[in-house]
Amino acid sequence: MINLIFLGPPGSGKGTQASIIARKHNLMHLATGDIFRDEIQHGTKLGKEAEKYLKRGELVPDHLTIEALKSRLEIVPSSGRNGFVLDGFPRTDNQARELDNLLNQMHLTLTAVFFIDVSEDEIIQRLSGRRICKSCGFVYHLVYNPPKVDEICDLCGNKLIQREDDKPDVIKRRLQVYHEQTKPLVVYYAEKGLLHFVNGSGSIEEVEQRIEKVLEFIQEGS
Ligand code: AMP
Repeated sequence: MINLIFLGPPGSGKGTQASIIARKHNLMHLATGDIFRDEIQHGTKLGKEAEKYLKRGELVPDHLTIEALKSRLEIVPSSGRNGFVLDGFPRTDNQARELDNLLNQMHLTLTAVFFIDVSEDEIIQRLSGRRICKSCGFVYHLVYNPPKVDEICDLCGNKLIQREDDKPDVIKRRLQVYHEQTKPLVVYYAEKGLLHFVNGSGSIEEVEQRIEKVLEFIQEGS
């Protein structure tokens, strides 16, 4: 099994990379941000609660986030997938510890944690040009990864939108929250010997190749 975590600031491209790696290796892609956006779109109880936090660029409280993740993670062993990719989870120390407990209970172990490293200037540029498919969640960028037809998703033909939280004020708050609460997880996973730094600048293909190289290296050694 290959069980991965993608860590990194908002806009580092971790979602894009997580979805590519998941497809290539037949892993279940679990993105808590996508889960919340989906719940919001469907107007569920969780969606209504989570929306208040997403709008402001704040983190959804741990108990809600962990519950949402847990119910999906539990499906992995019987899903026919070769493992999972966590994208946007964990984001707090408490979430990381809860994840360890969950994986222990499920007799699963983490294969690697990728930290996708990108400068703050580049992050702001990326987030402000980001567009997502309202329907399938696929991510585009107006300059670096535009759709073939303006404003339309290549994969499913639905309309692209800008996320509310990709507007400048909310971007600022998300970056602040990231530095305070999520960045310290780098130390948490480094101490476990699981952390791999990946330079996140360059094209999507270049970053993907860097990740694949590390994965090959890990698999050769196991
Ligand atoms: P993302 O799509 O990963 O940038 O996440 C978008 C928003 O969803 C974040 O700004 C948070 O409000 C919420 N969110 C996503 N993942 C988590 C998490 N692990 N813990 C708390 N809130 C989260």
